[in-house]
Amino acid sequence: MFIWEEAVKIVLEVNNLEAYYGESVILKNVCLNVQQGHIVCLLGRNGVGKSTFLKSVMGLVHTPCGSICLNNEEIIDKPTYFRARAGIGYVPQGRDIFPHMTVEENLQLGLEIKGGRGGIPQELYELFPVLKEMLTRKGGDLSGGQQQQLAIARALAVHPKLLLLDEPTEGIQPSIIKDIGRVILRLKKEGYTILIVEQYLEFILGIADDYYVMDKGAIIAQGLVSAMNKEDIQHKIAI
Ligand code: ATP
Ligand code: MG
Repeated sequence: MFIWEEAVKIVLEVNNLEAYYGESVILKNVCLNVQQGHIVCLLGRNGVGKSTFLKSVMGLVHTPCGSICLNNEEIIDKPTYFRARAGIGYVPQGRDIFPHMTVEENLQLGLEIKGGRGGIPQELYELFPVLKEMLTRKGGDLSGGQQQQLAIARALAVHPKLLLLDEPTEGIQPSIIKDIGRVILRLKKEGYTILIVEQYLEFILGIADDYYVMDKGAIIAQGLVSAMNKEDIQHKIAI
């Protein structure tokens, strides 16, 4: 019998990845997929290797073994700028905006990755109205939550094929966390593909499609968020 299956497109396919800082092995045999249009969450306690995983995808960490494919193209040996130009947007933990530059200059820098063409998309101001009000303010003078919004907006300026967010809720007040959640859901509706590192389980429950749990540099659980045993997962990531 012929069964018609809709083709599933995998944007990011990571297999058997190892990552090192010097001689220390941090990631062991990590396999993780992100399907197009999905929001995938990587959960885990402090220090288990979540940020190292995102850095590995960006080419910022030594990864001698394994495979990282972006839209079926092997990128493990490609430099960071290649990966950014190929469509990976990255918002590091702690935001990493340029504190002495204005909000507008920070957003323009986001565009530089693709040659600065086209100007700042107006859609960014719809997503983050607060940024429009503060275009001339220095990035370092924004609140933590506003800096997080600026960092996400900067990464979105070039319409990435894959957006990596490292703990977007860390140290941010609840009202801004809700705003960021709403933005992520809107991006999902628009078809964006997003990989979020989080420790705040409640935040991702209403947002993510798939989850992975990391412990000591290895994936120890994975599945659909809709079928997640919350108590079990909370126990696995509790500090
Ligand atoms: P958190 O939830 O606290 O952000 P994490 O899961 O993101 O933690 P990583 O930042 O990936 O954890 O760190 C994983 C391990 O690698 C930790 O033991 C950390 O101390 C170590 N590590 C991180 N960065 C470096 C570095 N530049 N050099 C050496 N070791 C590092
Ligand atoms: Mg981290």
